[in-house]
Amino acid sequence: MYSINETYLDKEKEKLFEIKTNSLRKNFEKRRINVHTFLKKADIFRFIEEFITTRAEIKNIAFSDSVTLYQLGMYDWFESQATDKGYVINQPLKRSRTGQFAVFGEEPPGKMNIPYDIWKPKNDRWYQGLRDSLTSDLLVIGANAITMNGEIVSVDGIGNRVSGMIFGPKHVLCIVGRNKIVNDIDSALDRIHNYSAPLNYIRHNSKHSTNFDELPCLQIGKCVKCSNLESACLNTVIIRGQVKQHQDRIHLLIINDELGF
Ligand code: SF4
Repeated sequence: MYSINETYLDKEKEKLFEIKTNSLRKNFEKRRINVHTFLKKADIFRFIEEFITTRAEIKNIAFSDSVTLYQLGMYDWFESQATDKGYVINQPLKRSRTGQFAVFGEEPPGKMNIPYDIWKPKNDRWYQGLRDSLTSDLLVIGANAITMNGEIVSVDGIGNRVSGMIFGPKHVLCIVGRNKIVNDIDSALDRIHNYSAPLNYIRHNSKHSTNFDELPCLQIGKCVKCSNLESACLNTVIIRGQVKQHQDRIHLLIINDELGF
């Protein structure tokens, strides 16, 4: 008996991935943003290893906070390589098992109840780590969206997550799953404000004991372009290309998988 499995779509998704990335590659590379595509997650680690080995100037590496990087096990992988490969990791956004930033130690979940004079120097060290990441040799980062036209679009509150994409780090590896591909900037911003940002607030509420419940998007389920003081949407960064002397700076790594949101 002949039977087709109508629910198995991996091959079809792979084909669509190839069609889309072949097209967007031309647009990014015209703008001097290098594109590398990976059908399997595992292949990305070999690429990164070679990328670092062939660039002797990479001595310290920093990261953005990124669910994509968590899903790939990227933070642990870099840490496991650091001593052998001779580079230093700067990861102020690393979390302890309780969900607090690691610099605060194993404080229990929820609002930290530690005296100000103990909290303040730890917080200063955390903040300085964010500033230091802007002068790293290599920044490993995710993105909210990439467009078929060749743009990388991200939205951020403080700005630390995305400012290093513009200037500072000598090299940037921007890692995204196929789900981050959108047609244009309007589609990117619509997706970010009406899906990624609200979901990210809910993620922080449930995993990091924040309270973003008063934000309009969590009240009514859609973005009203607020300027709330808790908003993580106050800065929009659109990378439209790199200048001539930065042709080896941004490398966009696109994986044929659903990663992050
Ligand atoms: S309502 Fe405000 S916080 Fe929510 S997605 Fe829109 S700009 Fe961001």
